[in-house]
Amino acid sequence: MTSSAQQQAPAAAPHHTRRSMFTGALALAAGAALPSFAAGRAFASDAAAAPAIASCATWGARPSSEPVVVLANRPQRIIVHHTATANVTDYSQQRAFALARAIQTYHMDAQGWIDTGQHFTVSRGAFVMEGRHSSLAELRGGARQVRAAHCVGQNTVSIGIENEGTYTSEEPPAAQYAALADLCAYVCTQYRLPATAIYGHRDFNATSCPGDRLYALLPVLRRDVAERLGAGAAGSGTVPEPEPVPEPEPVRDPIRDLLDQAASDPLAALPEYLPPHLLP
Ligand SMILES: [Zn+2]
Repeated sequence: MTSSAQQQAPAAAPHHTRRSMFTGALALAAGAALPSFAAGRAFASDAAAAPAIASCATWGARPSSEPVVVLANRPQRIIVHHTATANVTDYSQQRAFALARAIQTYHMDAQGWIDTGQHFTVSRGAFVMEGRHSSLAELRGGARQVRAAHCVGQNTVSIGIENEGTYTSEEPPAAQYAALADLCAYVCTQYRLPATAIYGHRDFNATSCPGDRLYALLPVLRRDVAERLGAGAAGSGTVPEPEPVPEPEPVRDPIRDLLDQAASDPLAALPEYLPPHLLP
């Protein structure tokens, strides 16, 4: 479940120029042409291999309603979410790509955001997809991040990963969990983060996300990511936790309003679920 505070425009790098967008499109197109978009790349022995990640172009994203903002800083952490959608047994790529499109539709048309809120999505069938445009190119670059809309107060300093499903009383399928761990390890490698820098949405906002069961798995996830990173980057706790960069208060943040409303009225429903008609 994502939440946004994107009215403000803090110290941001200039928007992509038309030329850089064009160059990026070419790079994505080249990547998409590789067999099953699973090209991978060479890494040092203590680095995690690049997982296959379907770009926005691959799953059929709409253009963002305005240029995404690329921030001139690396993220400080990863934040894990669940989509709070049904725990389907359709593990196909077709389903995964339909989910990505449904989330984008919900975030743009119902929430009024410029694009998908999160940076990446992992389907129940273990397909990993780009969320907000340019998230994948910036991850590959390893130096900057796209300003997102997945966690109030963390949208300029974290990478948001949505996991398809509802993990309040059930754990993710093994393949989905493994894909999440592979993705986290790659994010840690590219942005030089320790495996200890993995959090759940509820660590920052008043939400049940990513569900009790997935949240309880986070210590295991940190350990598994550390193993993927190798002994030299095991995230033993010796890496000091970076200080969070305060995110300016938004002019108006409907999600924060809802969270405040829920805090004052425990019975008030949070918009956890995508409208069912948006999913196949
Ligand atoms: Zn969430």
